[in-house]
Amino acid sequence: MIDTVLYYLVPTLLVLGTVVFMEWFAAWSHEHIMHGWGWGWHKSHHEPHDEALEENDLYAVIFGIFAVFLFWVGATIFWPVWWIAIGISIYGILYFFFHDGLVHQRWPFKYIPRKGYLKRVYQAHRLHHAVEGRDGCVSFGFVYAEPVDKLVKKLHGNKNGFDQSALKDDDQRPAAH
Ligand SMILES: [Zn+2]
Ligand SMILES: [Zn+2]
Repeated sequence: MIDTVLYYLVPTLLVLGTVVFMEWFAAWSHEHIMHGWGWGWHKSHHEPHDEALEENDLYAVIFGIFAVFLFWVGATIFWPVWWIAIGISIYGILYFFFHDGLVHQRWPFKYIPRKGYLKRVYQAHRLHHAVEGRDGCVSFGFVYAEPVDKLVKKLHGNKNGFDQSALKDDDQRPAAH
């Protein structure tokens, strides 16, 4: 009995723990690396453009390669790592769904959330893009988002101001800005 519980419990905790950790790590690295010394690649994501791909996508490629490496470690050296790699992959799918899909419409259909949690995540990331340049931005996470009025309050304290149109539900906005 206890064997069966552990057999399922350990992988479940590893996967869930990794997904939660990844949201923290993604928000932290977005704020301190992408908007810091890593701005060179991330800048492409904060500027309007017509190309399908951005230099910023290289970050996703690096995470992908790292996950593949962890799958290999898990399969050959130390099995728990395999479940960590699963957690990172699930986070990658969540990131794609919320960030690339919902907010930036990099999928072939249009869906704009009008209420609840999805709307909050959507608006929070649009507010992330409402400030020009790398400094003074808010909301660096992708799955968790602070309440929108809190973010707006922070943005009002921003000396460079912010683009108020990010709060509108307009579906005319450019796909990648
Ligand atoms: Zn950013
Ligand atoms: Zn974005």
